[in-house]
Amino acid sequence: MDLNNLKSNPIVVVGGGFGGLATVQALLNKSNGTSVILIDEGHRFLFKPLLYELLSSELQLWEVAPLYSDLASELGFIFLQECVVEIDEIEQKLITSSELEITYSQLVISTGVTTDYSFIENLQDYACGFSNLNDCRKIKKLITKINNYSELTNPIVIAGAGPTGVELACKISDLIKNRVEIYLFDKGDKILPNCKSFNREKAIDAIGKRNIRVFLDYYMKSVDRTFLELSRNDNEINHFIKINYSTLLWTAGLKPSKSKFVHNFLNENQKIKVNEFMQMDEYQNIFFVGDITFSENAPFPSSAQVAMQQGSLVAQNITSLREGNELKPFQFEDSGEMLSLGIGNASITGYGITLAGPIAFEIRRLAYLMRMPGFFLSFKSSGSWLFSKKIINRLFSQSP
Ligand SMILES: Cc1cc2nc3c(=O)[nH]c(=O)nc-3n(C[C@H](O)[C@H](O)[C@H](O)COP(=O)(O)OP(=O)(O)OC[C@H]3O[C@@H](n4cnc5c(N)ncnc54)[C@H](O)[C@@H]3O)c2cc1C
Repeated sequence: MDLNNLKSNPIVVVGGGFGGLATVQALLNKSNGTSVILIDEGHRFLFKPLLYELLSSELQLWEVAPLYSDLASELGFIFLQECVVEIDEIEQKLITSSELEITYSQLVISTGVTTDYSFIENLQDYACGFSNLNDCRKIKKLITKINNYSELTNPIVIAGAGPTGVELACKISDLIKNRVEIYLFDKGDKILPNCKSFNREKAIDAIGKRNIRVFLDYYMKSVDRTFLELSRNDNEINHFIKINYSTLLWTAGLKPSKSKFVHNFLNENQKIKVNEFMQMDEYQNIFFVGDITFSENAPFPSSAQVAMQQGSLVAQNITSLREGNELKPFQFEDSGEMLSLGIGNASITGYGITLAGPIAFEIRRLAYLMRMPGFFLSFKSSGSWLFSKKIINRLFSQSP
């Protein structure tokens, strides 16, 4: 395919996560015949909030991670599986690792974040994150090993008591049937500091019912193959714990994916500072979306919800830019928060409800699936679990 001979002025979106795909979908809805090209280094979109259900086999790979090629033919965009390594802002072109050059008229960058192992020496050698399909496969293997092994092993240690650490701890605990103790530690003084209080209370209950020990105000000092050392934040007490661990799962820090490519745009906190229109002031036809962005004037959290809202706004702003109209500022509308709290259990605050338990679990799954790009594709191709008899029965036959 000669990309430079596409219909005039292609819009190129780099990164097919929540932000990138939401931008593409919204651009296609406004389509006036312009080519929309999505570039991602992977071949599957990953619906990260459902990674826990993939781990537990409550959902299957095709449900959580549809192929971009299927989404592209269903929705009508051009997909390229390439890793972008360079941007030439003057010539308005991108260069990929296979030395392909792609010219853009407007560019959207939504390349997201990944686990940051740089906090402690050798951390990457001993820890596993939970942000992609590879991490999920590794943890799944570990669970199978624990369940097939008759002797009990040393504790699993999870770093970070934010949503990922807490949700992962509950799910793993259920999957290994509480056979191995899980230590969940955080340098802060409470779990889920940025979550809604109802969800935090339900998470504390869920943790209390499982073989999970929480260490707050602790940070990790060192790690080797067998031991890791936690230390209290208040050095006055000089409190250390040495743990003979079996597995270390790291959910305590993120950094931009492939930071070399976005290096020129990053500030000292490894984020891209955007203006209210999701641009950097100096590049009018480049827009930034999702977890790599931050705003000083109107801060927003890093979440799928934010990335999707930004994607829609950016699509609108690109259309306005091309038609010579005024751009609109981004305003985050918080529609709520959902937590997965073990097998068949979740907590929801928002979306007009406050609910925890099995019904919340089903609602969470339904709500997420309905946001899946190409939702109708998965529905058509499989008869989807969404309308399965089992789920309808569960939804309507249980009391809250
Ligand atoms: C386990 C887990 C659970 C989560 N649960 C929730 C939740 O319940 N609710 C919620 O709101 N948020 C949740 N999040 C956060 C949410 O997934 C992110 O905020 C969201 O994915 C950010 O979207 P994004 O577009 O910025 O990046 P991503 O979705 O991470 O997408 C980035 C894409 O860019 C591609 N890419 C990167 N570099 C390049 C390159 N150089 N060239 C080409 N392609 C590239 C990657 O392959 C990837 O597909 C969760 C995250 C995780 C890890």
